[in-house]
Amino acid sequence: MNPLPSQSERSPLVIALDALSLLAFAMLAFRWMVVMPSHADARGGWLLAAALCASLLTDLASGIIHWGADTWGSEQWPIIGKTLIGPFREHHVDPKAICRHDLLETNGANALVLLPVIGFAGWLAGHSHLAATFTSMLLGVSSLLAVATNQIHKWAHRDDAPAVIRLLQRTGIILGSAAHAEHHRAPFDRYYCITHGWLNPLLTRIRFFRAMEAVITRVTGAVPRREDLGNLAAVRAGRRIAVGPRAPRERHNLRPNAGSLSPLGTRGDPRA
Ligand SMILES: [Zn+2]
Ligand SMILES: [Zn+2]
Repeated sequence: MNPLPSQSERSPLVIALDALSLLAFAMLAFRWMVVMPSHADARGGWLLAAALCASLLTDLASGIIHWGADTWGSEQWPIIGKTLIGPFREHHVDPKAICRHDLLETNGANALVLLPVIGFAGWLAGHSHLAATFTSMLLGVSSLLAVATNQIHKWAHRDDAPAVIRLLQRTGIILGSAAHAEHHRAPFDRYYCITHGWLNPLLTRIRFFRAMEAVITRVTGAVPRREDLGNLAAVRAGRRIAVGPRAPRERHNLRPNAGSLSPLGTRGDPRA
């Protein structure tokens, strides 16, 4: 569920790993789909309930992961700083960057993480007990939705999504552009769910993420969004999109460290 670094920054090894992950996920998902129906007879109601639970859980998980990356930690942390936290925060500065990611870059990392889940769902599908069938359906549908979440998020940002995708967006089956636009308004602290987006209005109304932040701050003393758009991501993106040899601040003739707003609408970073 993270917009990863651009293709030019990706090594051939990472690209190969993404391809293998997607291939392995597709094979395990196919196996799950082939085995599952053998025990599904007369359990339609349970399977429908499992699929609905999977949708809600995946939507909630997408929101919690997105909120976690937007809100806590530092882009300078090892591994997840570069692969998860930084890309999510840069996505606020350059929302269309995700549209330039190809299939492997968009979906490879999720496929890798979900391999054990779809594999376990396939193993459970071979058991006839109702609990095993229910859990297999829950995990299988969750895996398929989760592996597609980055792609769904990308489609929400594309102006030229395929007609069938636009239909799914308009009917609210997957996250739509208008609903997701609620998240892309400063201060980027609401509408985090990016699979269906179904839970966004409810979580906003009950102040779910504000309550989570209050608890975490009370327990750990950490400040939500301390390292947010105002510094690392905005400065890095500003440098990247600067045209010509001069930086944005210079082109707009703003004095450095004058406490005024930068062209990106954020205060200058003393580390810049
Ligand atoms: Zn965000
Ligand atoms: Zn977005």
